[in-house]
Parts: sequence; C-alpha cells; structure tokens
Amino acid sequence: MIPGEPCSGPHWPRRITVLGATGSVGRATLDLVAEQKGRFEVEALTGGRRVRELAALARTFRPRFVALADPAGYAELRELLAGTGIEVAAGEEAVVEAAARPAELVMAAVVGVAGLRPTLAAVRRGALVALANKECLVSAGELFVREVETHDAVLLPVDSEHNAVFQALAGGGRRHLERIVLTASGGPFRTWSAEEMARATPEQALAHPSWRMGAKITVDSATLMNKGLEIIEAHHLFQLDEREIEVVVHPQSVIHGIALFTDGSMLAQMGPPDMRIPIAHALAWPSRLCTSVRRLDLLELGRLDFEPPDPARFPALRLAREALRAGDGAPTVLNAANEVAVAAFLEGRIGFRDIARLVEEALASALACAVPRDIEGVLALDAEARAFTRARIAAAAGSGAS
Ligand code: NAD
Ligand code: MG
Repeated sequence: MIPGEPCSGPHWPRRITVLGATGSVGRATLDLVAEQKGRFEVEALTGGRRVRELAALARTFRPRFVALADPAGYAELRELLAGTGIEVAAGEEAVVEAAARPAELVMAAVVGVAGLRPTLAAVRRGALVALANKECLVSAGELFVREVETHDAVLLPVDSEHNAVFQALAGGGRRHLERIVLTASGGPFRTWSAEEMARATPEQALAHPSWRMGAKITVDSATLMNKGLEIIEAHHLFQLDEREIEVVVHPQSVIHGIALFTDGSMLAQMGPPDMRIPIAHALAWPSRLCTSVRRLDLLELGRLDFEPPDPARFPALRLAREALRAGDGAPTVLNAANEVAVAAFLEGRIGFRDIARLVEEALASALACAVPRDIEGVLALDAEARAFTRARIAAAAGSGAS
C-alpha cells in the first residue's frame, strides 16, 4: 500500500493542497511551507467553519482556490478575500473540488469521516496523498485501499506511528517485516483509577501530556481509541494481520513506531513529539527537508519507559481489535459511533466511560454485520451508525442515566 523507493526525487517547487488547513495538522503543514521558502506552492486550502482563520491563511499563502465546508460562511469569506484574485467556494462539494485540483501532493488533514470524499478525490486523480485523516481509512478500509491501487495513487503516512514504521521500512524492506510496534503515550489518564476516569471532564481529557492536537484526536488519545484506530490504519497501510500489530505504552512519546524484521532486528524512528517531523517527511518524500524543529536531547531525556496498556481501563483498544477481526461494516460502525460519542462527551452530554460503552453497543447491533459494497455504502452505514448512537445518547438522557 505504501510506496517503495522511487527512482527520482521531487521537482521543487512542489504544488500542494491542504485539506483541513485551519486544524492542528493543517497549520503545522503551513508552518513548514512558510519556513521552506520557495519549496512549495499552494494550489488550494480548505477549512470547516472558521472563516476568518481560513481567510487569513489564504492571504498569507496565496492559494489559487479556497473552500469552506460550511456554506453559511461563503459571503463572509468572499468579502474577506475580495481583491486578492483567489477563487472562493463553500459547501461539501467545494472541499471535494479543492482536492480534485491539480496539486502534486494533497495533505489530507480533515478530522473524521468528513474527510473521506475529499481524500478520495485526490486518490482518484493519482495524487501523492499525505494521509493524516486516519478515520477515512478506518471507515472505508479495503474499498479505500482498492481506490488507491486502481488509480496508482501514493499514500504517505503522516500519523506519527505509521510514518515511523514507513521510515523504518526503508531500512529493512516490507518483505522481511515480521511485525510492528505502535507506541502510545497513554494519554492524560494513564495513571488514573477507573473511578477517577468515570468522572473525567472534557477539560481533563483535553490536557494531553505530550502532544498538542485537535480536540477529537486528543479525546481519542485519552480513551486509547486513537491507538485502536491506528491498529486498523496500520493493517491497511502495511497489509499486516491484526496480531502482527503490537501496542506499547511509552509515556515519553519519543519512539513513535518500530518495525521488527525476520532476523530479529528492530528499527525504530525517534524524535520529539512534534507533528512537523512526520509532516516534513511526507511533504518532501522521497527527499528530506532541512527544518528548524527542536532536536531530541537524549541526555536530557535520560530514559525510555514501556508498559502494557491496561485492557480494563481502556476497553477501546479491544473494541478496535474486535472490529478489525470482524471485518465487514464493523470498523465503519466503530468509527461512526466513536465520532458521535466523542462529540457528545465534549459537549458535556455523556461521561468519559460512556464513549467506549456506546461504541460497544453499536458494534453489538446488526449494523456491524452490514457489508458496504462501495464508498456510498460506507457513507450510508456511517450515517446509520451515527443515528443509532445519537438515539442511544438521547434515550439515556431521557431516562436520567449518564
Ligand atoms: P483539527 O480538529 O485540529 O482540524 C480539523 C480540520 O478539519 C480543520 O481544518 C477543520 O476546519 C476541518 N473540518 C472539520 N470538519 C470538517 C468538515 N465537515 N468538512 C471539511 N472540513 C472539516 O484536527 P487535527 O488534530 O488537525 O486532526 C486532523 C486529522 O489528522 C485527524 O484525522 C486526526 O486523527 C489526524 N491526526 C492528527 C494529529 C495531530 O497531531 N493533530 C496526529 C496524527 C493524526
Ligand atoms: Mg498517531
């Protein structure tokens, strides 16, 4: 799924599009673009709702096209960019159009399944796709992989663990790979008791000890669902069986991923917990950039710790493995239920432990046995699983339970 060594490097400047430009990964991408003067030209930028932030980025990076997912912001965006010559559009289709425009590389950094159609638009024109948006690969699974193969697109993993394994594979080769290790920081609740976790507030869940990220993935890191989604992501990217993907809690977050080869060698990729490192790797692939990102000081770090994840306090990891083993619609349902539950938790409508409980309920429903035949089928199942989970939340609220 991921590429081997190509015969030639990039031709600078490289033309790129950033989907989800106003988010955490999108901004980190544009930080690098600003630092690497003359290396990149921006074809298109997209955002969800934050009109002013998107307009400010457009004024700085001068893309040809800007798209806002929320149609309600169209008039304001047009006004803010009047006189710049930048083409402006809004609505879901406009985001898809941004991805379809002729950029050599597309950074897919929308959060959630909302990124599936735009990311596929880039895949379908055979682009280099720097993939941060793990939910689209989790949700559409084999169908997404088939699209990548059919259109000769290239997936460059941006998720730090997968990027680490991708880099390690350059030193060992996919043929000799035995298994991989994905590291997890353990999140803010690594040392909390189950009772304390049950009372955790959104604010506490958002206080991640090592990474600064968007709200959804930060909550996923607190439940360890993020690592569960990453197991499914790794399965598709590296064509590995679920049992060949190990998860180890590593609180320092400096070893991001490890490839174990058939001769017993382990190749790990290390670096400070800064997304600009995997993003830089993907942006310049198969070359490398010279960045100003902080270097890791091993003596300051002093030690590396590893521990097993606790299955009792973090059931999400088991649920993701079960969904991957079950196949069919289960990963789609897992992802959809999780997106709805995380949003409800952030709005204070459910408790922290309800997130995994709601995902488990959705996986136990008949929906998980559905077999989506195409991408439209995936999106329809995603919508059904969302409705199912919303109904469970409403029912629990009606009965007074949390
Ligand atoms: P974020 O919430 O900070 O940003 C999300 C972006 O998507 C924003 O630009 C937002 O406007 C846009 N968006 C939201 N809803 C949209 C919609 N319906 N249509 C179009 N655009 C929409 O999220 P993030 O932390 O940058 O994460 C982005 C993706 O990258 C996620 O899939 C996440 O799992 C993955 N990822 C993030 C990190 C990280 O460090 N933040 C690390 C690894 C992987
Ligand atoms: Mg990750």
